[in-house]
Amino acid sequence: MPQRCCVPGCKASGGHRFPNDPTLRMKWRVAIRRTDVKTKKLWNPGQHDVVCYDHFLATDYRRTLSGDRCRLTENAIPSVFKFMKTCSEESPRAKRFKSRSDASLAIPHLINDDSIDVQYETEIETTKEAQESIIINDIESSQKSKNIQCDIPSFGKFSIESFKEDNKIINYYTGFPRF
Ligand SMILES: [Zn+2]
Repeated sequence: MPQRCCVPGCKASGGHRFPNDPTLRMKWRVAIRRTDVKTKKLWNPGQHDVVCYDHFLATDYRRTLSGDRCRLTENAIPSVFKFMKTCSEESPRAKRFKSRSDASLAIPHLINDDSIDVQYETEIETTKEAQESIIINDIESSQKSKNIQCDIPSFGKFSIESFKEDNKIINYYTGFPRF
C-alpha cells in the first residue's frame, strides 16, 4: 500500500519522499504549507512521508534514459497546489479587473447619439497632440504658430470645442463630469 500524499487536502497516494538536504527539505515544508496541529509550527515530515506527483511541474522532472520513471531534478520544489488555484481565481484584483472591463463595454450604450462613433476618440487624441505641438512651436516661433492655429478649425467637429457642450461625451472621453 503506497504512502498517502502529505499535502493538506490532497488525497493522492504515492509520490516523492522529502529530500535529505536540510535547505531543500525546508523549502518543501514551506511549499506544502502544512502546519503541525500540536505545535502550530511547520509540520515536520517523517521518513516515509511523500509529496505526490500532482504538486510538481513537468519541468521539475528530468528525463531518464528508460523514460518511464519520473525522477525529480536536484532542486525541484513542489509548486502546484489547490490553494494556489483558488487564490488566483477569486483574488480581489481579478474581480476588479473583470468589473472594470464590463464597465468599459457598457459605456458606448450610454451615448444614444448615432453620430458619435468610437473612432472619434482617436481623432481627439490627434487634436490634443496637435495642440501640444502648437504650444512647442509657439515657443520656437510665433510666426509659425499663427499658421498652425489657422489650421485648427479644419479639425471641425472632431475638435474638443465641439464636444465641450455635451457633458455626457466629455465624461466619456475624459472621465471628468464636464468640460
Ligand atoms: Zn498530493
